[in-house]
Amino acid sequence: MVEVRDVVKQYGSLKALDRVSFDVRDGEKVVIIGPSGSGKSTLLRSLNRLEQIDGGRIIVDGIDLYDPRTDINKLREEVGMVFQSFNLFPHKTVLENITLAQLVVRKRTKREAADKAMTLLRKVGLADKADAYPGKLSGGQQQRVAIARSLAMDPKLMLFDEPTSALDPEMIGEVLDVMKSLAREGMTMVVVTHEMGFAREVADRVIFMDYGKIVEEGTPEHFFTSP
Ligand code: ADP
Ligand code: ADP
Repeated sequence: MVEVRDVVKQYGSLKALDRVSFDVRDGEKVVIIGPSGSGKSTLLRSLNRLEQIDGGRIIVDGIDLYDPRTDINKLREEVGMVFQSFNLFPHKTVLENITLAQLVVRKRTKREAADKAMTLLRKVGLADKADAYPGKLSGGQQQRVAIARSLAMDPKLMLFDEPTSALDPEMIGEVLDVMKSLAREGMTMVVVTHEMGFAREVADRVIFMDYGKIVEEGTPEHFFTSP
């Protein structure tokens, strides 16, 4: 599903990514950990071409991201991304937030988009909030809406960039639960997180980054079992 080869990203003389290579198989869950500033976010953003890279190759579902001929909209339709900040439209209801891109990008009818949105809202436990405005929701609820909005595009790959880092502690669990159920359904996921419990429970593979490099890679058992 994802092929990353020798990717380099520089900010001036700083190598945010220094020859990073890894693969993600169909259905695999990869968790990226590492200290602040080690390049995790830059790497994840590169997988959705939110960053320009200075070297190497990234292929997602057969699409060469940094080939100038690539239609980036097609890629964005296949890759869902959830950020630390929820980025919902504040003046649109929860339902409208989830239907908007479906209408514009997927060309679904209003009815189809709304049906899909309601199915996803039930899935994230927020069917009763369809007509609410984001500002009335807790951070945990807003993040669950943001996940539903991403899923409405039927992505083949979901990227999560510290999805619980902006949340009050009591709301982290509800968001991780939604991510865990997505994982159980077989979604291919790449997750940057500090939640080691999630990594241990869900990850097929953990990648540890430091100074822009992958310094260690292995199963959660490898990382979290003391010898
Ligand atoms: P992490 O997600 O692991 O905290 P980042 O990918 O955000 O790390 O950042 C990696 C390095 O690149 C850091 O040293 C950061 O300061 C630097 N960096 C990130 N974005 C920019 C930018 N737009 N301009 C300059 N330096 C940046
Ligand atoms: P995180 O580590 O949570 O990914 P950061 O606080 O490192 O986020 O970065 C937030 C934003 O600031 C990102 O868009 C990143 O590209 C940018 N940024 C990070 N470090 C620098 C830097 N040294 N100079 C300019 N922009 C930066």
